[in-house]
Amino acid sequence: MRDLKSDVYFFTARTYNHQESLSKVKGPLALEKIGFSSKVKSGEKVVIKTHFGALENVRYLRPSYIRFLCDHIKDLGGTPYVAESCGWGVPEEVSGAHTEYSGRATEEEYLEIAKIHGFTTDTMGAEILMLDGSVGTNIIKHSIAGKRFSEVLVAGRLKEFDHMVLATHFKGHAGAGFGGAIKNLGIGCVSKGGKAQAHVGKKFEFDFNAPISDYEVCLKICPTKALSVGLDGKLKRDEEKCRYCYMCKSVCKNNVIDTGSSTQQEFIVQMVDNAAGVVDYYGSDKIYYLNYVVDVTWQCDCTGGSDVPFVSDIGILSSKDPVAIDQCAVDLIHLSLMNPHSILGNIENLSKDKTTDWLSYIPRFDAITHELDLNPNGKESKHWETQLKAAEEIGLGSRDYNLIEVIVESKKKD
Ligand code: SF4
Repeated sequence: MRDLKSDVYFFTARTYNHQESLSKVKGPLALEKIGFSSKVKSGEKVVIKTHFGALENVRYLRPSYIRFLCDHIKDLGGTPYVAESCGWGVPEEVSGAHTEYSGRATEEEYLEIAKIHGFTTDTMGAEILMLDGSVGTNIIKHSIAGKRFSEVLVAGRLKEFDHMVLATHFKGHAGAGFGGAIKNLGIGCVSKGGKAQAHVGKKFEFDFNAPISDYEVCLKICPTKALSVGLDGKLKRDEEKCRYCYMCKSVCKNNVIDTGSSTQQEFIVQMVDNAAGVVDYYGSDKIYYLNYVVDVTWQCDCTGGSDVPFVSDIGILSSKDPVAIDQCAVDLIHLSLMNPHSILGNIENLSKDKTTDWLSYIPRFDAITHELDLNPNGKESKHWETQLKAAEEIGLGSRDYNLIEVIVESKKKD
């Protein structure tokens, strides 16, 4: 059942001149519309959570969007920080392979990509950090009454900050249907282990009786020294020391560790549970949501793929409600025309004379087959809706909203 309507402010991407700048003018103004300046007190720490993009990705948010938010926070007397969190898996120097998703496993590794992509202390005028610490083991276990989880591994450094601005690049996502504010909470603000659990669930079982002799790899990778070999020659795990980074699982070639798997639907609901855990832990009153609905590709920033955006740039949305802001972004995308130059514009099994069918979903590609995720009628997918429904049902926000367009007029238009 739908709840009360939430306000969502909309600033068009159309700009006539620099006085209507999307980065310098509309970004900070979007924050103001949701009451940010009245809440930030002098000397308070404000963390901006964004995504620095996978190494080969070119559609992540431009650094200047974030830089002007940092400047704005300073103007208010606060101290800005720019944050991400460690990706799932192990560093490339351990895995020996560069993949679609790798290069973001630790702070050291990810900050190299951040530097290449223009996010540095110098360019931001702010410290750059990983919310879950240097290797993803800084966690806070927070209990919730989720649909699938009763405990969420919140990124531990969140507690250091008085406010959080969730500056999200809104785009598609192969597993979740789309990546917006909810995903930035449920994947971006949990620890490395929290990301793994969203994807595969909570199962984390060691087969301590497995006849394995080469424990060296997992013993060495464990950052908390939670693993050891007992006098009986069997692997042991200290529950107290374990921080659920899943790095041992990532290097295990002997099937000693069983983390199970999840369906696509389960993944989405688990991600939403994580998001609810983050908000419940941190406090909804301290979170400010900005969705930059620009460079909207069907791929997420976490992959090296960066197709041509499938719709034109729409603008910036701001809200205090993560569900309303994502629903609004989806709706505005659905009202847009498909860009024929994007890969989606060339999918042969989508009827070209029924264009509206193309616009009825945020496209999702199956991660394994790379086929479009279509309903049996071959025309549309409602995959994205799972995320919004689950988020509303768990009380994260409302899918009903008041769309309030804010017109930024430049002084001179000739
Ligand atoms: S036992 Fe595994 S999951 Fe736990 S801290 Fe060590 S490497 Fe991480």
